[in-house]
Amino acid sequence: MTHVVVIGAGQAGASCVAKLRQQGFDGDITLIGAETQPPYQRPPLSKAYLLGEMALERLFLRPESYYAEHGIALRLGTQVKALDTSVQTLRIGDESLSYDELVLTTGSVPRRLPAAIGGDLEGVFTMRDLQDADAMAPRFQPGAKVLIVGGGYIGLEAAAVAAKKGLDVTLVEMADRILQRVAAPQTSDYFRALHEGHGVKILEGTGLARLTGDGRVTGAELSDGSEIAVDFVIVGVGIAPATALAEAAGIALDNGVQVDALGRTSAPCVWAAGDCASFPYRDTRIRLESVPNAIDQAEVVAENILGAGKDYEAKPWFWSDQYDVKLQIAGLNAGYTDVVARGGDGATSFWYYKGDTLLAVDAMNDPRGYMVGKRLIESGKSPDKAQIADPGSDLKALLRG
Ligand SMILES: Cc1cc2nc3c(=O)[nH]c(=O)nc-3n(C[C@H](O)[C@H](O)[C@H](O)COP(=O)(O)OP(=O)(O)OC[C@H]3O[C@@H](n4cnc5c(N)ncnc54)[C@H](O)[C@@H]3O)c2cc1C
Repeated sequence: MTHVVVIGAGQAGASCVAKLRQQGFDGDITLIGAETQPPYQRPPLSKAYLLGEMALERLFLRPESYYAEHGIALRLGTQVKALDTSVQTLRIGDESLSYDELVLTTGSVPRRLPAAIGGDLEGVFTMRDLQDADAMAPRFQPGAKVLIVGGGYIGLEAAAVAAKKGLDVTLVEMADRILQRVAAPQTSDYFRALHEGHGVKILEGTGLARLTGDGRVTGAELSDGSEIAVDFVIVGVGIAPATALAEAAGIALDNGVQVDALGRTSAPCVWAAGDCASFPYRDTRIRLESVPNAIDQAEVVAENILGAGKDYEAKPWFWSDQYDVKLQIAGLNAGYTDVVARGGDGATSFWYYKGDTLLAVDAMNDPRGYMVGKRLIESGKSPDKAQIADPGSDLKALLRG
């Protein structure tokens, strides 16, 4: 009987095994995860869960009983140490396990601050898994001084939770503006104003020189020479795809584990999906760090293991929650030349164009703008910029055009 082994019991791994069963696969399935909890959703870790507004069980993607009920051997707290793709085995401790098909859904690892600048002091946290969120949660006490390093979505979400809980929040961003890597200046301006309105001190163009303290972090020296006192630090300076296992096995990498449109890696019978995988997209190759991508790509891989021969056609979208603002992003803005703003009734959206072609939409408290933008982008339609900029124009009518 065919044995499919999936390494990485996160969003992509869980989606892959569930899809295999939904599609009627009746062979053996083993899902192996280094963490001790059944697969769970990460987004609430920096949002509702950290705020204390979501119970642990609600994080789980499926009840733990689901896996046994569907004949899926779930091996938690288990790190796969090595692969040998020539004989189709993997090593867990002293045990060797054979596979017929292998899926790598190993996700990503957060970048940490070097120990030389205080990155290993007690009270310095990263935000990737449940353990991280649980470790930092007790520090969220009113009046505590938190330094957030990095003004990307994770840093900003953590800042929002901290501000809501009454902490004294300082966020440093080395680039000229928050969200510089992912969004237009208009979106950065929107979120800067939002955070400053909640009392967060945002220092842009300001790096961290070093963290100070005797065993435990108590201060930070910033690149402008200033010093601040801190009680704890959250580092949100990006992630790197978890490729060590693939690399050691000689599997080709290219900004992550390189896969083709079907999700196949360079090794026979080895597939990859989710944060760890880079894949062909239009005339380039990309890697996405988002839940929708993890689910959709892993499901396509499951279907292809069963012989569907289906190309993965990514439809990128993403969201972030900060205070009472829900940001929804459709498309990818890379290469944009213009940004068109639309507003009204508490809703704001920024529409990214390359020439006359619509690439992406950032929609703040604007589900309609997001939905219409997403459908337009997916169907290759680009509305006239003047229509978008006119708050009185009927967005839904654009879908019929
Ligand atoms: C705090 C936070 C907030 C986020 N917010 C959003 C959001 O609002 N919207 C959104 O779209 N996305 C968000 N994301 C991103 C999203 O969670 C990820 O893109 C998604 O989880 C990727 O799924 P994955 O299965 O590829 O990786 P993961 O979910 O990271 O799962 C990978 C798993 O593989 C395990 N693993 C790795 N190596 C091995 C090994 N050798 N042996 C065994 N197990 C191994 C890891 O321990 C991990 O459990 C957020 C992420 C974080 C951390």
